[in-house]
Amino acid sequence: MRFYSTNRQCQDASLEEAVMTGLAPDGGLYMPLRIPEIPRAFFNNINEMSIANIAYVVANTMLGDDIDAAQLNAIVTDTFSFDIPLRKIDNRIYALELFHGPTLAFKDVGARFLARIISHYSSSLTDEVNVLVATSGDSGGAVANGFHNVPGVKVFVLYPENGLTEMQKQQFTNLGGNVHPIAVKGTFDNCQQLVKMAFQDEELRKSMLLTSANSINICRLLPQMFYYFYGFAQLSNLTDNLDNVVVSVPCGNLGNLTAGLLAKRMGLPVKRFIASNNKNDVFTRYLRDGNFSPCVSTRTIAPGMDVGNPSNFSRIMDMYDSDYTAISQIIKGYSYTDDEIKETLVDTYSINSYLLDPHGATAYRALKDDLKDGEVGMFLETAHPSKMARIMKEATGVEFKGMQTVGNAHSNHPSSIPRISSSYDSLKKILLTTT
Ligand SMILES: *Cc1c(COP(=O)(O)O)cnc(C)c1O
Repeated sequence: MRFYSTNRQCQDASLEEAVMTGLAPDGGLYMPLRIPEIPRAFFNNINEMSIANIAYVVANTMLGDDIDAAQLNAIVTDTFSFDIPLRKIDNRIYALELFHGPTLAFKDVGARFLARIISHYSSSLTDEVNVLVATSGDSGGAVANGFHNVPGVKVFVLYPENGLTEMQKQQFTNLGGNVHPIAVKGTFDNCQQLVKMAFQDEELRKSMLLTSANSINICRLLPQMFYYFYGFAQLSNLTDNLDNVVVSVPCGNLGNLTAGLLAKRMGLPVKRFIASNNKNDVFTRYLRDGNFSPCVSTRTIAPGMDVGNPSNFSRIMDMYDSDYTAISQIIKGYSYTDDEIKETLVDTYSINSYLLDPHGATAYRALKDDLKDGEVGMFLETAHPSKMARIMKEATGVEFKGMQTVGNAHSNHPSSIPRISSSYDSLKKILLTTT
């Protein structure tokens, strides 16, 4: 597969070039030149297939020319060391639980696949690979964990110093070794901007191999297609109404939604998508009136979605030739306040005995608001509620104690974490001097 840049100011890249650079040299995002369709026969017995089997078929359809079958199979099998069950919430709505990985959030899937693809390519390199990731909460832990102790790789995690929960922070600040946390005095958007600047710094890129582990990296995105197919596979054991499946996605940087749209283009029969936002509703507003106006993000109780300038918007535009009418037909947008999200947490817990997390709650609520008679809904439950322990206790009274996850078994040394302002020079210095 070849990959083009959404800015179209540079040459196409191989999978290796796309994954090892993250961002295209012209500042655009890589997209597959072609989106191959999976033969219909695949769907005949998809309901009997495991997540790894499904992932292999989808991955091989897209990347079969780039990585040989046995290695690709090993990569996807390693990626899915955990299950992604579909749970019934009410008569016609199901939750796809993506939080059973080591850091309890869906980002484990993208991060684990990406880490394995990068080590596949880096094992033959003499230079070290530097992986940069900005996190609004869950990417940091997932990426750090995915790459921890991988030889030849160094990971830098930029995070807003006041934006994360304790558990989220511990998942990457306590690992040590090749994982280097950097606290930024600013928002997630500031972190994301700093990462972008590093990629555009030619001097820096001449002196070190740099790649991104955010969803700007196409290899974080592609594996997220797999679980849409797997969710559909499980759904097909529960209903015959498979032409009327509506999928709701809690959105931040729009990586998850873009992966869903790619899955649909590859042949997954999804009738439409719902993009659910919290108060950071840039994309919902775009869907309403066709104007995309990025702004500063505000903090909410669903911080993984606190994004003011979603990086994957340009990929969605590209997939639909910037055709607003087409995009607004296939995707419906909803946005909710913190109070509405909390209300959904409480109601769903008392009525359906299901404990959502605040991200999943926005997606569930949007699905309830949008679903028409005769349709079946599936939403992505992207984080385990224990990651948001304080809010969960406040809203529902449920307490999480002693949840073990990566990182939190060790002691914390916050004093040794560098704090930088949102100006680029301090980041550059750290990147150049960390050994
Ligand atoms: C990152 C994140 C999201 C948003 O996903 P995008 O791919 O950035 O749109 C939603 N929920 C949780 C729990 C997250 O960590």
